[in-house]
Amino acid sequence: MVERRLIAVQGVVQGVGFRPYVHRLAAANGLAGMVRNDPGGVTIDVEGESSGLDAFLHTLTLAPPPTARIAHIDVAHAAPGAYAAFHIAPSAVRDGNQPAALLLPPDAATCDACLAELFDPRNRRFGHPFITCTACGPRLTVVRDTPYDRERTTMASFPMCGDCRREYEDPRDRRYHAESIACHACGPTLAARRGELDDHPETGGAAIDAAAAVLRDGGIVAVKALGGYHLACDATSEAAVARLRARKRRGAKPLAVMVRDLAMAQAQAHLTREERALLESLARPIVLLRRRDGTDIAHSVAPSQPTIGLMLPATPVHHLLLASLDRPLVMTSGNRSDEPVVIDEAALFAALGDVADLFLSNDRPIAVRCDDSVARIAAGDARLLRRARGHAPHAIPLPRPAPVPVLALGAHLKNAICVASGGHAFLSPHVGDLDTWAARQAFRAAVDGAIRITGAIPEVIAHDMHPEYASTQAAPGLAGELGIERIVAVQHHHAHVAACVAEHGVTAPVIGVAFDGAGLGTDGATWGGEFLLVTGASFRRCGHLAWVPLPGGDAAARRPWRSAAAHLASAQLQPRRPAAVAESEWHGVQHLLARPDAVPRTSSVGRLFDAVASLLGLCQISRFEGEAAMQLEAAADVSRARPYETPLAGGDAWTADPGAIVRGVVRDMERGRDVAAIAGAFHLSLRDLVVAGCERTRETTGTTTVALTGGVFMNALLLALVQEALSGRRFRVLIPRLVPCNDGGLALGQAHVAAHALQEDPCA
Ligand code: ZN
Ligand code: ZN
Ligand code: FE
Repeated sequence: MVERRLIAVQGVVQGVGFRPYVHRLAAANGLAGMVRNDPGGVTIDVEGESSGLDAFLHTLTLAPPPTARIAHIDVAHAAPGAYAAFHIAPSAVRDGNQPAALLLPPDAATCDACLAELFDPRNRRFGHPFITCTACGPRLTVVRDTPYDRERTTMASFPMCGDCRREYEDPRDRRYHAESIACHACGPTLAARRGELDDHPETGGAAIDAAAAVLRDGGIVAVKALGGYHLACDATSEAAVARLRARKRRGAKPLAVMVRDLAMAQAQAHLTREERALLESLARPIVLLRRRDGTDIAHSVAPSQPTIGLMLPATPVHHLLLASLDRPLVMTSGNRSDEPVVIDEAALFAALGDVADLFLSNDRPIAVRCDDSVARIAAGDARLLRRARGHAPHAIPLPRPAPVPVLALGAHLKNAICVASGGHAFLSPHVGDLDTWAARQAFRAAVDGAIRITGAIPEVIAHDMHPEYASTQAAPGLAGELGIERIVAVQHHHAHVAACVAEHGVTAPVIGVAFDGAGLGTDGATWGGEFLLVTGASFRRCGHLAWVPLPGGDAAARRPWRSAAAHLASAQLQPRRPAAVAESEWHGVQHLLARPDAVPRTSSVGRLFDAVASLLGLCQISRFEGEAAMQLEAAADVSRARPYETPLAGGDAWTADPGAIVRGVVRDMERGRDVAAIAGAFHLSLRDLVVAGCERTRETTGTTTVALTGGVFMNALLLALVQEALSGRRFRVLIPRLVPCNDGGLALGQAHVAAHALQEDPCA
């Protein structure tokens, strides 16, 4: 019997070779009809024998193309007789009012088939720096508008040559409708310039050779990647790395390293099976790994860190460079410290003109700024610490749809913004810290990009409560510009917990354990060690780390010894001045601590980490955010350690006294116990504190699900300890995976809370 079916497919189905796949599948089952990209996904109109249609649908559902993600399939029946053959129809363009679904794919690393051609001298794309196919290559970063078709990408200015056109139109070819298709004859041109005034750049293979020569000599090369420039240098040369740090004005913060292949990664770091898989995953993130001793990587790449961030090449240009040099390369964001990564030629020489010796560029514009993603394996799972290339713009399904589109503006540090529309949230690629004018421009571009790509028209703006966050300050202006009347302020730690809950699709109440450096509380104090009972749009602060003074406010975060002084004073212990601290500064802080009413107070676990790291002599001045906590984690040996007491005080709103832990640390130091054991005991104590807090909250609320989040949980040791202990006590434990637990995930939580608030009270 001949039948006809109208099939609507939603999910990540554009730019992943979905239409050619459907075409082949229809042909294989003897079906006629058409397939087309729509603003909402892919529409298939197909007719033929019932058995063929059933087989077609079966395979489509169970074995879609590898990079596709089907969220929903809708099948309707129609009268047959419309088609004689199967074809790919032109895309339906969005009609402005219709919200585009969140279905754009992220950029994907060069696939094995393209890689084989790249290094095959007989192939017509041998050495072509822009080789791609339907399974790999740029996506988000070339998209100017949806639906995803070549004419709406930055490839529009490269008309296909005859050979590429034939492949593009041949349903049997793996480049059939590959929108970023290119070759030596028609694709973008790679060019190596010495500077802005260099009118005779090397091009193509000679450009790779020129870059390799500069790198071999210890120079610095700016390399245009998918979503922005990288700065590259020889990772085995102390001199080259020192030069890069000086010119980029980057202190001690670790630099990422690109290795040629898994074998080279294995030589630098200890890899588990999970870590190998993470390195090789389609997104090719920077993966934090345990570094091996005595490798040839320069010490200054990640000074005094037991970990190193490695990544594999994700683009043909990187493959060509690494193949030519065959040594690890520092591959760090192309910016000066605190500025956004450079994406266009107009800004290139102004920003990096005196940083790089050579500029390896090309004439394909970058439509969307997108840094490298950073991930690690922690508590048994791959977890993103920075969400960008390869992950953005994958939509995150929301447990309950947003009644109207919401724009959430995120935090001040590690900013990313979020648009929630219908049942999905779109978290922008990592924007970064918003301290500079250039960073705030990038923030603004991220807002515009998110609105353009989602096609959503936000009716609500959500932001943090902190009045000094640049993202908060941008809210009224954006609301005016976008004609938005409703603005919602969301408490920082509430948003942290909501982000975790949204990612896990949970709607029931949870005990949120939000540990971080600082976030403004509803009482105007600085929170950061919170146990919140979160129910949709509302939360109750059940318990927290007991207050400790924060001498110097934000200055304390950069000077762990200040937190140590504060914690010693709170625990009524003798002050002790570290040798590295000037006497005058020390006395200034002691003076402040003598008048507790005049000093702001905090419940921050981040500052407790600082205090203990300082007491143990690991870190007095923090050279980058989180350094003291990283040192303390690295030093810890839990195998020989016993936790300190962690009593909870008070009834309905209880506090956990960090003084008990600090007294334990000082006692052990006086007894001459070694740093590793004390750092281990500290981690075990925090674990016990979390367990005690969760058990107390479960007793009073009956809630058995715990969300662990906040920047402190980037600490893989603490995360694993807490997860194991809570699971052992029959808690259900939620931990962010695809969304960073640090402030990079905050916007998702803000959007989720604002959407909930509207559902609960549409008139608010
Ligand atoms: Zn490919
Ligand atoms: Zn071509
Ligand atoms: Fe935070």
